[in-house]
Parts: sequence; structure tokens; C-alpha cells
Amino acid sequence: MTKALVLVELKNGNAKKSSLESIHALASQGVEVDAIAFGPDTTGNKDKVAKAVGGQGAKKLLIADSADLKFYQPDIFTATIAATFKAGGYQILAGSASSLVKDLFPTIAVRLDAGLAPDCVAIKIEGASLSAKRPMLAGKYFATLKFKAFPAVVSLRPNVLTIGADSGQSAQIVATPPSGSIRAKTLEVSGAAGNSRPDLTEAERIMSAGRAIKEAANFKIIEECADVIGAAVGASRAAVDAGMAPHAMQVGQTGKTVNPNLYIACGISGAIQHLAGMKTSKVIVAINTDPEAPIFQKADYGAVGDLFAVVPELTKEFKKLLSAG
Ligand SMILES: Cc1cc2nc3c(=O)[nH]c(=O)nc-3n(C[C@H](O)[C@H](O)[C@H](O)COP(=O)(O)OP(=O)(O)OC[C@H]3O[C@@H](n4cnc5c(N)ncnc54)[C@H](O)[C@@H]3O)c2cc1C
Repeated sequence: MTKALVLVELKNGNAKKSSLESIHALASQGVEVDAIAFGPDTTGNKDKVAKAVGGQGAKKLLIADSADLKFYQPDIFTATIAATFKAGGYQILAGSASSLVKDLFPTIAVRLDAGLAPDCVAIKIEGASLSAKRPMLAGKYFATLKFKAFPAVVSLRPNVLTIGADSGQSAQIVATPPSGSIRAKTLEVSGAAGNSRPDLTEAERIMSAGRAIKEAANFKIIEECADVIGAAVGASRAAVDAGMAPHAMQVGQTGKTVNPNLYIACGISGAIQHLAGMKTSKVIVAINTDPEAPIFQKADYGAVGDLFAVVPELTKEFKKLLSAG
């Protein structure tokens, strides 16, 4: 039987949904899946995480914890995953195409002498091989890559694949000693503005604003609306380059790729580089003063109007609708 190791990332002590999507994608195709997670957050929440990953079909939850692993330490993550992969006789390494995985998996693929398929939107296990579909050229084309042999290293775009119904099973917890030594240690992470909004890459609803928002303080009207519907807040590169939003909020070719059920673009023209990051959203709504703006060609619904008038109205309507139950 084909065996896979899936890297599980945590947020606030919970396994991220995008990690569970990777487990389900493999386990539902008959692959024997184990999960690996790092850090003190994992140890403190191990039963909860074991239940979440087990519910999607993982047999074991390997926990690599040490005081050094409060933050992502690439040296330790690389050495531990590579050593675990080899010792466990796995053929596939998978995880969600997060920033962490984008940094980590290429190095591990080299260590394992494995092929790498990043940011895939579908995978299929075919006997002793695997094929993976991934967007190319800013999403204009899709390529299907076929691994002629294992090992294979694959990352899956968040929010594209689904998770399955919880089987009620819990994964067996196995303590795994971290390997390797740290050459450059992350001691502190600052400036990562904490808020209760969902991660952009995992969010089911996103409201983004572009250059038309004019200044950082005006994001308040977007945030107020987003908070009513539990949405994450994004931005175009023009807004980021003008210092109105941090790069972490940028959606697009050189920002984050998102795939929510609902994407509301406020004052965003719809340049190809922005579309590359959000055009697979299930429902796209555009608010723009220019009826000829290219975003309207991709939008399912559009409002031709000033975002400073339309967004507060939308907030009011959402509040009314939600309070009416
Ligand atoms: C290599 C490369 C990579 C790039 N990567 C990215 C990326 O990752 N993400 C990204 O977003 N861009 C990216 N870009 C930039 C991209 O080409 C566009 O310049 C950018 O997306 C434009 O942002 P915008 O839509 O906010 O601004 P604009 O193109 O200036 O559009 C502003 C829109 O707001 C409308 N508007 C004005 N006032 C109002 C109002 N009051 N209410 C409502 N609407 C209003 C206007 O009609 C216009 O359509 C990249 C470019 C390059 C060359």
C-alpha cells in the first residue's frame, strides 16, 4: 500500500483545515496516511489534533516538539521530516501550499531526491505513481504532472479540495524526536498583526480593497463589513505598494492565492496579476465606479458605484439579514 506523510500546520492549537484537506485527498484514495506536526502548540493540543487528523483518515500523529520549535525553524523541520520520511518508508510527502510549505518542501524534495509538484489543485494516485494538476502562467493553463516513480513531494492549494465527514477515529499519537541542529534560530516574531479574522488562504469569504481605498485608515470600512460576515481582508498590490496595507494582505501573482466561496473586490480594476490570485473564487462580487473595469468580466455580481457609499450600505444590509436569522 502507498504510504504518505502529511505535514499538519496549526493555528491557535487547531489543525488547519487546509492540512486536513491534504489528508483527506490521499486517504480517500486508499493511501495510508500519517500526519506530522511540530512545536509546543502541538503537544498542548495533541488529543484535539489527533482527533481532527484521525477523523480525515490519518493513522498516526507524529509529534516533534522541543522548546526550540515555538517558531518555524527550517533546519529542524527539514531534517526531521526527511529522516521520518526515510525511516517510515513513505512514498509521498504532502501538505497545504502555505508560505511555510513553499519555503520548506523544495529543500526536502532535494534531500529525498524526490520530484516536486507545488500548488496543485488535484492529485490522483495511480498504482505506484501519482499525477497532479497545477495552474501555470498566472492560472491561464493547467498542467498535469505525472511522477514516473516515488518519492513524490506535493503541496495542495488550500480551499480547493474538500475535507470528508469526520470518521470519529483518532490518530495514534507518537512522539518523534526532532532531528538536526539550528544554524540560525528565530527568537521572536513581531509585527504579525494578530486579529481574529480567518487566514486569507483558508477564508471562505474575503473582502479586498485596491488603490481606490486611498489610505490605510479607510480599510476600516472594509473591515467593518468583513467582520459582519466573518470574512478575511485582502488588498491589491497597488494598495500594498502605496503602504495602505501590509504585504501579508496582498492577493495575486506576487501575493497570496485564495479560493474562497465569496470574494468581494472593492475598487480593484482586475489586472491579470490580481486575477491570478483570486479568479478561482466560487462567487466574485465587484464594486467599481468604472463600468468598463476588467474585474466585471470575471465577476458574478457587480455594483457600479463608489465603494465609500456601497460598502457601508452592504454592511448595513448584511447586519439586517443576519439579525433576521
Ligand atoms: C510582475 C507583477 C506582479 C504583480 N503582482 C500583483 C499581485 O500579486 N496582486 C495585485 O493585485 N497586483 C499585482 N500586480 C499589479 C497589477 O498589475 C495592478 O497594477 C494592480 O493589481 C492594480 O491594483 P488596483 O486594481 O488596486 O489599482 P488600479 O488598477 O489603479 O484600479 C483601481 C480601480 O478602482 C476603481 N475606483 C476608483 N475609485 C473608486 C471608488 N471610489 N469606488 C470604487 N471603485 C473605484 C477604478 O475604476 C479602478 O478600476 C503585479 C504587477 C506585475 C508587473
